[in-house]
Amino acid sequence: MDLEVLIGNAIREVRKWEGGFGPYDRHASTHLDTDQVAGVLDEYTGRLRNNYPFFHPRYAGQMLKPPHPAAIAGYVAAMCINPNNHALDGGPATAEMELEVIRALSDMFALRQPTLGHLTSSGTIANIEALWVARNIHPGKSIAFSADAHYTHSRMCEVLGIATRKVPSDESGRMDVSALRRALRDGNVGTVVATAGTTGQGMVDPIDEIVAACQEYGVRVHVDGAYGGFYVLLGTSEFLSAETRRNLRAISRADSVVVDPHKHGLQPYGCGAVLFADPSVGRFYKHDSPYTYFTSDKLHLGEISLECSRAGAAAGALWMTLRLLPLTREGLGEVLAACRRAAIKWQELLAESKLLSPVGEPDLDIVTYFPSGGAASASEVSKASQSIFERGMAGDDPVFLSTLRVPTRRVRFGKSPIRRDKTQTVVLRSVLMKPEQEHYVEWLHQKVEKLAAG
Ligand SMILES: *Cc1c(COP(=O)(O)O)cnc(C)c1O
Repeated sequence: MDLEVLIGNAIREVRKWEGGFGPYDRHASTHLDTDQVAGVLDEYTGRLRNNYPFFHPRYAGQMLKPPHPAAIAGYVAAMCINPNNHALDGGPATAEMELEVIRALSDMFALRQPTLGHLTSSGTIANIEALWVARNIHPGKSIAFSADAHYTHSRMCEVLGIATRKVPSDESGRMDVSALRRALRDGNVGTVVATAGTTGQGMVDPIDEIVAACQEYGVRVHVDGAYGGFYVLLGTSEFLSAETRRNLRAISRADSVVVDPHKHGLQPYGCGAVLFADPSVGRFYKHDSPYTYFTSDKLHLGEISLECSRAGAAAGALWMTLRLLPLTREGLGEVLAACRRAAIKWQELLAESKLLSPVGEPDLDIVTYFPSGGAASASEVSKASQSIFERGMAGDDPVFLSTLRVPTRRVRFGKSPIRRDKTQTVVLRSVLMKPEQEHYVEWLHQKVEKLAAG
């Protein structure tokens, strides 16, 4: 169905409901002149052209793509009403939908029911909430995460006044478990953050072993699956390595999990989620707001979240999307499978290329590679990568990539490392999070090869 038709139908149904409350006059202060609106709209859409084409498969840069039409229609319909999911009486319908999608997300990870959880406005907010609960359960203890964990973990630990312990990553970019075990033996770690899909290279930490080690030491595990969490839907598929599948399945044994529907869940920004395996952590959320709750003594989402106002439309959009593309292998899993196949295909092309080399084996759908035709040292590779990145965007047949700084020891020509005149090397990175890219990687590869050739 056409997006314009879908949105039109959605708004029309909301207007019908509004009509049931009787006519009233809009206040003159909000009236607008039609010509003036048209002029401003022209200017506005003109300015919006100053964007990269996130929707197009030739955009293989950052984690960006437009929401699914179902999410847009669902969002627009609820936005016309503008419910606030802070409290049940701020938006009863979308608050109920939020509880339903939270249940679906925790079932996706096979967390023991009942769990406690809610949507948030982002992965960062979802993570800070999990870290805050971690601090309250183990006050005075530190939080450990890998060198490849999202940068906001150290920032949020600073906000919360929590000591941090950085665990080195191994050569592939996953948390080094023997280094973690050494940190756990010191005895001052209260919680370990494991990443399911690092933001840089999309690597899945050895969650299975991390959970086992943490259980020995009575340490909690928080899984940051903001990017890769949805890949658990491919848990039995041949497209992921047995190791990755095992580590994604191990999320079921975590104490808390974060996943971002606004990344791989086809949603517009403003939709993260945090889930807790033990619902009794709800006791940490003290609240004494005098005016928000009055129609129900059921659970209020505002009572179990750090944020106050939150778009009910975000929950509505996710609910509508998941009704159409459910959290199954055949539903949303099809989208992820296509992204993963795109990464496998590009990886094969990179491995055969004389001009480009892959940095490592990707676990999910982010490929990293570098120009290996002439450059032999870290600084030469960095310069050549930066040049491809910039030249790619120029001209009338552009390709959009991103760059990533990685430890130089990860960058190898075949089996031998490049000359390490710098500890960090800039490489190229492509996030293949659009299923359309499955049929576009040859084009992407040829385009980048041409840029690498000079
Ligand atoms: C994107 C990301 C975050 C931050 O989430 P936002 O929604 O951007 O705030 C945290 N962790 C990981 C692994 C991510 O990829």
